Amino acid sequence: MAVSEPPGERAPVVTMRGVSKWFGSFQVLRAIDLDVHRAERIVVCGPSGSGKSTLIRCLNQLEAHQDGTITVDGVELRPDLPGIEAVRREIGMVFQRFNLFPHLTALENCMLAPMKVRGLSRAAAEEAARTYLARVRIPEQAHKYPVQLSGGQQQRVAIARSLCMNPKIMLFDEPTSALDPEMVGEVLDVMVELAESGMTMVVVTHEMGFARRVADRVVFMDQGEIVEVAPPAAFFDHPRNERTRRFLSQIL
Ligand code: ADP
Ligand code: MG
Repeated sequence: MAVSEPPGERAPVVTMRGVSKWFGSFQVLRAIDLDVHRAERIVVCGPSGSGKSTLIRCLNQLEAHQDGTITVDGVELRPDLPGIEAVRREIGMVFQRFNLFPHLTALENCMLAPMKVRGLSRAAAEEAARTYLARVRIPEQAHKYPVQLSGGQQQRVAIARSLCMNPKIMLFDEPTSALDPEMVGEVLDVMVELAESGMTMVVVTHEMGFARRVADRVVFMDQGEIVEVAPPAAFFDHPRNERTRRFLSQIL
């Protein structure tokens, strides 16, 4: 195990040590080591199939790892962990597809979990929902159903819905890759503001402008391994690994 750090600002929110996972005989994650510190912004990139989604799905135990340890806010995650739900609700997740409840308005989508899971009163849940819908700049869309919203607006509702749970960390899995190009910017703007507010974030994305602007560190994955980790300037301007260079030459 890593040396234990005193609690406080420097303690990692997430610690992964030697995390491996298999789908049948296929090893999808290979001995992943990664720390995410409080208020740190990590961008994860890499070719399709390299294990990026699986990595962040393991962080909230939508997928179980089979070897190594994952600790979130001091609690080691195991599939059999009693109260895994309590850990999971501290972790916000935004997917490529917005996954809003179609039969609920934007406001109701945001109010549901805080009322059901956190036990907030309807009034308190509505107040929080309106606050976060304003923060993602769509307060006027509160009473619309998902089908009445653009893709960019739906994704911003999904972000607001996660924030209403007051998560300790936010995970994003290619949040803009299902959007029409003209809507990518409005979602990235909201994510930049969230980063500037001090949220701890792990973002899988190929939006390299976002990575340069926001990331503290960029993680490059290939074939289930973390191949390179570096601050964005070093990552983009002086990638050390040949696989990183090849990937960057394909997407930039
Ligand atoms: P990425 O997000 O980087 O594209 P994924 O984590 O989605 O990669 O997938 C990594 C690899 O694991 C891929 O080869 C994918 O086909 C495989 N995989 C993902 N989910 C499953 C699953 N539930 N069962 C079997 N194989 C899977
Ligand atoms: Mg993926």
